[in-house]
Amino acid sequence: MSKIEDLARANVRQLTPYQSARRLGGSGDVWLNANEYPLAVPFDLRQQTLNRYPECQPKAVIERYAAYAGLSPEQVLVSRGADEGIELLMRAFCEPGKDAVLFCPPTYGMYSVSAETLGVEYRTVPAQEGWQLNLSAIAEKLDGVKLVYVCSPNNPTGNLVKPEAIRQLLEMTRGKALVIADEAYIEFCPTATLTGWLKEYPHLVILRTLSKAFALAGLRCGFTLANAEVIALLLKVIAPYPLSTPVADIAAQALSEQGVALMKEHVGELLATRDKLISDLRDCRCVEKVFPSETNYVLARFTDSALVFKTLWDQGIILRDQNKQPGLAGCLRISVGTAEECDRVISALQKLSGASASMEQA
Ligand SMILES: *Cc1c(COP(=O)(O)O)cnc(C)c1O
Repeated sequence: MSKIEDLARANVRQLTPYQSARRLGGSGDVWLNANEYPLAVPFDLRQQTLNRYPECQPKAVIERYAAYAGLSPEQVLVSRGADEGIELLMRAFCEPGKDAVLFCPPTYGMYSVSAETLGVEYRTVPAQEGWQLNLSAIAEKLDGVKLVYVCSPNNPTGNLVKPEAIRQLLEMTRGKALVIADEAYIEFCPTATLTGWLKEYPHLVILRTLSKAFALAGLRCGFTLANAEVIALLLKVIAPYPLSTPVADIAAQALSEQGVALMKEHVGELLATRDKLISDLRDCRCVEKVFPSETNYVLARFTDSALVFKTLWDQGIILRDQNKQPGLAGCLRISVGTAEECDRVISALQKLSGASASMEQA
C-alpha cells in the first residue's frame, strides 16, 4: 500500500506553498506584513437571495469596474482575487510540460507558486539596476514563453517599471506571448496605469485587486483587464461561480461613486503617512537605506535586519522579511499602517539604534 502522499502529483509533493503573511503567523497587534489597508471600511449585506447560485460575472461589479478603469465591460473579468487571475492565465495559455512563463525577481511570489502547482515551467530574468527589466536577457529566454508577468509598481521593491521598457517588451512579444502587467498597487500612483495601451496591444493584460487601496483583502476580489478576445478565453476556464453573492454585493458597493471617492481619500491620507514614515526611517541609525516607494509599503535595508525583525516581532509589530529574495539581503518590507502604527515602528527602531549605539561605546 502506498502512502497517500505518494499518490499526489510529483510537482505537488515538491511544492512549497506560498508563505502568506497569515500562514507565517505571529501574535502581533501591529500588522505591517501584508500591504493591507490598516482600517476596515464598513459595508451592508444587501443581497438576501442566498438560496440562488450567484452570477458568474456579476453585472453591477463588471460595469462599475469598467467605468472606474475607463474600459468597456467586455474588457473586464472579475475573480477570486488577482491571484486567481494569475492562475487563470496560465490555465488558459500554458500547456504543462511544454510552455513556460517568465518573470523578473525580486517580485511577487504567486507567479512561481501558480506555475509550480500547474506543472508549468517558469523562467526568471533578474531585474537589473533600479529593479528595471533586463530586456536583452528577456529576449534570449523568450523561446516557448507564453506569459511574461511584470509587476508595476513592483512588490516588494515599490518602484514602477519604466513604461518605455514595457513597450519594448510588448513589441518583442507581439504574436508570441502575452504581457501581464500586475497593477495591484496602481491606486497609489494612478497615472502610471497601462489601461490606455490596450487598444494598441491585443496581447496586453492588466491585473487589479480590491485587496490593497480599496481596503478589502478579506473580500477576495480581483480583476483582469484585457481585450475581449483574451477575456473570452479566461471565461472558458474560470469556475462557474467564482464569487459568492455577498462578495459581489460588497464589491459593487466599493465600486460605487462614493466607494471610489472614499478609496481616493484614503489613498491621499496613506501617501502622507508613507512619506513621513520614509523620512523618519532615513533618520534611524539602524537603517542603511530606504528605497523610494510608489505604493503603500516601504522597502528598507537594515544594518542587522534579523535583529530588527525579531525585536519588533517580540513587541507585536509584524514586518515582512525579504532577505531570501535575490538582491534583497538585509531588507525588510514595511506596510504603511495608521500614523500611530508607523510611529510605533519608528520608536522601536530608535530604541534599537540607541541600544546598539551604547553597545558600540561600551
Ligand atoms: C496583493 C497582490 C496580489 C493579489 O491580490 P489579491 O486580489 O488579494 O489576490 C497580486 N499581485 C501583487 C503584486 C500583490 O501584491
